[in-house]
Amino acid sequence: MASLYIDGQWTDGSGGTSDVINPFDGSVVETVGQADAGDVDRAVAAARAAFDTGPWRGTTAAERGELLRRVADLLVRDKEHIAHTETLDTGKTLAESRIDVDDVTAVFRYYADLAGSDAGRVVDVGQAHVLSRVVHEPVGVCALITPWNYPLLQLSWKVAPALAAGNTCVIKPSEVTPLTSVLLVRLCAEAGAPAGVVNIVLGDGRSVGAPLTEHRCVDMVSFTGGLATGQAIIRASAAGVKRLAVELGGKNPNIVFADTDLDLAADWALTAVFLHAGQVCSAGARLIVEESMHDELVAEIGRRAELIRLGSGLAEGTESGPLVSAAHRDKIESFVADALADGARLVAGGRRPDEPELADGFFYRPTVLADTHRDMRVIREETFGPILTVEKFTTEAEAVALGNDTSYGLAGAVWTSDMARAHRVAGALRHGTVWINDFHPYVPGAEWGGMKRSGNGRELGPTGLAEYQEHKHIWHNTAPAPARWFTGEARS
Ligand code: NAD
Repeated sequence: MASLYIDGQWTDGSGGTSDVINPFDGSVVETVGQADAGDVDRAVAAARAAFDTGPWRGTTAAERGELLRRVADLLVRDKEHIAHTETLDTGKTLAESRIDVDDVTAVFRYYADLAGSDAGRVVDVGQAHVLSRVVHEPVGVCALITPWNYPLLQLSWKVAPALAAGNTCVIKPSEVTPLTSVLLVRLCAEAGAPAGVVNIVLGDGRSVGAPLTEHRCVDMVSFTGGLATGQAIIRASAAGVKRLAVELGGKNPNIVFADTDLDLAADWALTAVFLHAGQVCSAGARLIVEESMHDELVAEIGRRAELIRLGSGLAEGTESGPLVSAAHRDKIESFVADALADGARLVAGGRRPDEPELADGFFYRPTVLADTHRDMRVIREETFGPILTVEKFTTEAEAVALGNDTSYGLAGAVWTSDMARAHRVAGALRHGTVWINDFHPYVPGAEWGGMKRSGNGRELGPTGLAEYQEHKHIWHNTAPAPARWFTGEARS
């Protein structure tokens, strides 16, 4: 099936083909066409023309909101098919994929509502004859570049606000997991997006991502992915001084004080880090535990980690799927080997599973490492896999210092039954999202994004719409009078 969509037409692309691999067993899910630089050019030209001269420019915010609502309805109609495809593509469980589709639907509905209520503002300048207005206009042609871990979800955080604001876009999903992004573009077309408004090109970062971000007709790049790619995109955007939104990695602390119920702490330590095999930007990969509770909690987490059921994301009873690729598993194995060589203690996992039926997939057992410290690579770098490291603290100040001792700043959590302490710690943590006695929840109406090397800007919420807008000031003097500034006479 043709998988590139350019100017309202489905096409195979001129960059050859690529196999999309099922991480559960290494089989080919689908073979998709790839774009070349010429396809990127055509997609950007289509988006440019649709923005500059097409009917899209004349749509009202209410009409764009209606389009988003129709996409949401189609997502509900196709939920099972999309969730099934997401599981085949990423390996995550069907339960997780269904939640993703529900979340994506909610994001489209949220921005449909916000589009219609976002009217700009009038500024009172204290002069009755002056009308001063700040109007919200679209930025223009947006390149939307997404990672492989939450392909559909991450795309929705970009495409829904971009369209709500009146932009046109060229989407480039990860070459590893492109399938549900193609399905979403099909729904946008079915919902009535005019030709050129939504385009999608498939391919890798070098042959498709880079020419797209560097293209002189692209006004904005919205990127979610790894730190090194984000830095390359920031450098590449300098010549054109493009608008940028970058959502990068995280190294997220999960801080547990000893007044937390042990069962609750153990249960959520696992959920925080091992969901989607740890391939979550906000995964609670660094457990930071008060010393008096440390040994008992670590033993209980280790016991439960060994019980986690690995398997096909499509099978009933599977609690965790595989890693996305063999290369990614190699990377995880090297993190564990380095940590053990540096003195970490293996509490659980640290190996591939023994079950013969999992041998063809990219599985790795959920791994718990104790006695870890700040100088280890496993603490400093984002592993993006099923590795939980444990550190200890004795005072609240030490807990905060450890939680902030990272060059990232995406998310973190604090567990305690002392509410004053909970809010003190939440306030002191330099991370874009902090959960108190919880982990993972997000809502479309609340901003998401990182501090420090986790990125610039925010997705979701009203700020997530503002990312895709120019806020223009229009000053109207209804009773103009001569300024008399230049009269040729000396000023007194
Ligand atoms: P990646 O950086 O390897 O790739 C992301 C996307 O960028 C892909 O589509 C890729 O093809 C493209 N790309 C690669 N090189 C490019 C270039 N030079 N120019 C333009 N595009 C290029 O990241 P990944 O491995 O797909 O995803 C994992 C990373 O994403 C992790 O670091 C994770 O933390 C991060 N992530 C962050 C968030 C967040 O909300 N902050 C959410 C999900 C994932």
